[in-house]
Amino acid sequence: MDSFTSFRAGGAADYLVVPGSEEELLKVTTIISGFNAPFFVIGKGTNLLVRDGGFRGIMIHIGERFSDISADGETIEAGAGALVSELADAAFKASLGGLEFAAGIPGSVGGAVFMNAGAFGGEIKDSFIKADVIFTEAEKDREASVRTMKLEEMDFSYRHSSLRENGGLVIRAVMKLKRADRDEIKALMRDYAQRRIEKQPLNMPSAGSFFKRPEGDYAGRLISEAGLKGLKVGGAQVSELHAGFIVNRGGATAADITGLMDQVRETVSSRFGVLLEPEVRIIGEV
Ligand SMILES: Cc1cc2nc3c(=O)[nH]c(=O)nc-3n(C[C@H](O)[C@H](O)[C@H](O)COP(=O)(O)OP(=O)(O)OC[C@H]3O[C@@H](n4cnc5c(N)ncnc54)[C@H](O)[C@@H]3O)c2cc1C
Repeated sequence: MDSFTSFRAGGAADYLVVPGSEEELLKVTTIISGFNAPFFVIGKGTNLLVRDGGFRGIMIHIGERFSDISADGETIEAGAGALVSELADAAFKASLGGLEFAAGIPGSVGGAVFMNAGAFGGEIKDSFIKADVIFTEAEKDREASVRTMKLEEMDFSYRHSSLRENGGLVIRAVMKLKRADRDEIKALMRDYAQRRIEKQPLNMPSAGSFFKRPEGDYAGRLISEAGLKGLKVGGAQVSELHAGFIVNRGGATAADITGLMDQVRETVSSRFGVLLEPEVRIIGEV
């Protein structure tokens, strides 16, 4: 999956399915659940690490075929495969404010809903209205079905949604935004982009902030204070620019990355008594 993940590392999946339409997606999910086969949904793979032994099951890639975006008044609907940056851009073009924070997040809309992605004080949940979600039933002959999930059902919290527990697969989401001045929207987007360029190692493969923010602190600050900036395991390194990022300096295996993760967690835990939790989803076999 190295070519499907922004870490550019990791093992293979047994099968990769790239549905071309909602109908195909429903067929595929119905077949998969009929066999009770393990599957995993992947968007842009910017928050995902597949261990080197690979994933025993079926990867369903939600990509370009699900990338329609349309604005209507103050609401905007986006397919799960659209890029979050495209969504932010469409909002800007429609003079709708509220998604400026998302312009520099490299993932898909589906991944951003699943993760309740956020930055600069904003989160997906702030403008989320509803999403069409496929649920599979692990029983033979039961068709996968689409349900509309409203905000109350999503149980959004910091980098979490109820999709993590219920296994729902997002097809599209609807957001409600506010009319805003285009120049102001653009200025905010520029400011956030500039801050990313200055503070994040955008020239090297990574999955963004590797760890969740611990209560009342920042993972990057703790890692940096523990003297771990620049620490390497194989091709993986704690970024010199932003200690919260683990980067692939070239040729890193998933084991390099998780080995480095373990060292960082152990050191930060023994120095500060804080156990860092990965934000990146780690799946597959060692
Ligand atoms: C340089 C860089 C900067 C980043 N900055 C930020 C940031 O500022 N804020 C932030 O929150 N994140 C950030 N990220 C992480 C990442 O971009 C977000 O978490 C993004 O929302 C993940 O989307 P994705 O499509 O890449 O998801 P993937 O990595 O493909 O998947 C992540 C999770 O979402 C699930 N998923 C994906 N698509 C769907 C779907 N259609 N339905 C159901 N579940 C789905 C997957 O099963 C998986 O569990 C950054 C990453 C990088 C590389």
